[in-house]
Amino acid sequence: MKVRQPIVTVLGHVDSGKTSLLDKIRGTGVQGREAGGITQHIGASFLPREIIKKRCGPLYGKISGSDVQVPGVLVIDTPGHEVFTNLRARGGSAADIAILVVDVNRGFQPQTSESLRVLQARKVPFVVALNKVDQIPGWRKSDAPFITGAIEIQDASIRADLEQKIYDVVGTLSVLGYSSEAFYNVKDFAKEVAIVPMSARSGVGIPELLAVLVGLTQQYLSARLEQGSKESRGIVLEVNDEVGIGPSANMILIDGELGMNDTILVAKRDGVVSTKPKAILLPKPLDEMRDPRDKFRPVERVEAAAGIKVASPDLGGVLPGSAVYITSDAAEVGRLKKEMEAEMKSVFIETETDGVTLKCDTIGSLEAVTSMLRRQQVPIAKADIGPVNRRDVMGARAVKENDRHLGVVLAFNVRVLPDAETESDDYHVRIFSDKIIYSLVDGYSKWVEEDALHEEDAAFSELTPLSRFVFLGGFVFRNSDPAVFGIRVDVGTLRQKTAFMNERGKKVGHIHQLQEDKKTVKSAKAGSEVACSVQGVTIGRQINEGETFYTLPHSYEAKMLLRRFAQRLGPEERKVLDHIVEVQRRSDPAYAY
Ligand code: GDP
Repeated sequence: MKVRQPIVTVLGHVDSGKTSLLDKIRGTGVQGREAGGITQHIGASFLPREIIKKRCGPLYGKISGSDVQVPGVLVIDTPGHEVFTNLRARGGSAADIAILVVDVNRGFQPQTSESLRVLQARKVPFVVALNKVDQIPGWRKSDAPFITGAIEIQDASIRADLEQKIYDVVGTLSVLGYSSEAFYNVKDFAKEVAIVPMSARSGVGIPELLAVLVGLTQQYLSARLEQGSKESRGIVLEVNDEVGIGPSANMILIDGELGMNDTILVAKRDGVVSTKPKAILLPKPLDEMRDPRDKFRPVERVEAAAGIKVASPDLGGVLPGSAVYITSDAAEVGRLKKEMEAEMKSVFIETETDGVTLKCDTIGSLEAVTSMLRRQQVPIAKADIGPVNRRDVMGARAVKENDRHLGVVLAFNVRVLPDAETESDDYHVRIFSDKIIYSLVDGYSKWVEEDALHEEDAAFSELTPLSRFVFLGGFVFRNSDPAVFGIRVDVGTLRQKTAFMNERGKKVGHIHQLQEDKKTVKSAKAGSEVACSVQGVTIGRQINEGETFYTLPHSYEAKMLLRRFAQRLGPEERKVLDHIVEVQRRSDPAYAY
């Protein structure tokens, strides 16, 4: 039976050497195109078995066994567990196998453990690349390609040191439920995790690492890789719109094959679409690429596993991380569409209950953050893909009125749009933004914990402060764009970015900046005379010298000030609040109710 190559990803802590390892495996970087025989895919590189065999020499048979059927390995070019997270597939992971990179001199670090947790959850077998052996103090450098040879020429103390470092990793892994061994002591790759000491700088140990990957695949994953009656499927990594190509999706074809006459099904936000490829593209070999705009070569048909670009006008708006189903049978399209729709339904969340708002870049990250929040019993009101917009912040704001710890937005690897930013400043809705899943969730939980300790203070200090101030006659510094003028604060503390109204209750605008003695200050206390700037008003039109102004809390803030924080207000502030409420209710009877 035909067996496809396994899909391999590289994970590990930042700076452990993932990128260097990938570069070295591909033979790019210093060595240029020395590593002939490696085929470039879109987002991945294919190392044929023959190349691995050549690099390994006699060691190959010893490690990976005789009778190797796996045709090679397809290594995903982008490292990191965020990428791995997006390689999701029904029933687990699209990646078949992983390399967990550990810095030999640092051991397990936070993202190492995080990566391991992801591998554990998706049940993906892995090998540990114990990188940077060349940095072990006293390590004797050599040109040996094999780590076993390189270890032999080290002093006894260095060998003992390395042995100790290997056993530290063995110890950590055993706590996490894995038994592991240095690869040369592994008897059964299906039961023990192999640890391969290596250096991504010198390349020592990489042949063994590759041989272990092949061996592991061969013994452990053959059933998964057999192609007999597997449905053709893949996963979308990225969606682009390129000049000369139009809408296209970079995808990994996991099983089966894709030809120009096949129908592919992919998910968009509002449903599953089916389309036929206009082109199936692979990168041109570097030496054939005369014009950098002409990067791709069209093919009629590809077989799994492969990294490809599929162009079609219908692919605009496809969700990164979407599953891809492929069929040559028109009668199958309906069934596949139904299956995919059912899968998609479970990913997005939209409820009326109180919970956090979550925005992510891909389906994979959305699922990963959702499940992590659920494990920590954090309710989710909304989970979706795309940038944080004003509606997200408004939703979180409504939740915040009931539960200040759930009225927040968590943003993973997405932009925050300017109007969302304004809304968040205005209503003090927190947006937690991060590019590492665990630190996003961690940052949020830590804030909840700390905030709960002094919740009353925190809630009070976020409210629009109560203040009354006057426009000092003769102190006009600039008429408009922005208007800049002198004021005296009579009651309370005035802060920048605060909305204010005139005596009759009409909203004037926001205090943009405050300056005292030509220095920008965040706030000004009662009694101080300062300059303020206000956008969007002209002196002599909306505001006049000698006028009195009041800060203008939102209706819900005024309600909180009246009900919850009344005892914190001084008598003068209380008078200011009563005045604000009285004049606001003339135009809005629901104000502060
Ligand atoms: P990543 O963040 O995991 O992708 O790590 P990089 O590949 O960017 O490597 C981080 C740093 O470690 C870079 O300065 C590399 O040159 C260096 N580095 C990576 N592997 C090795 C190695 O085997 N030996 C030595 N001496 N340095 C290495």
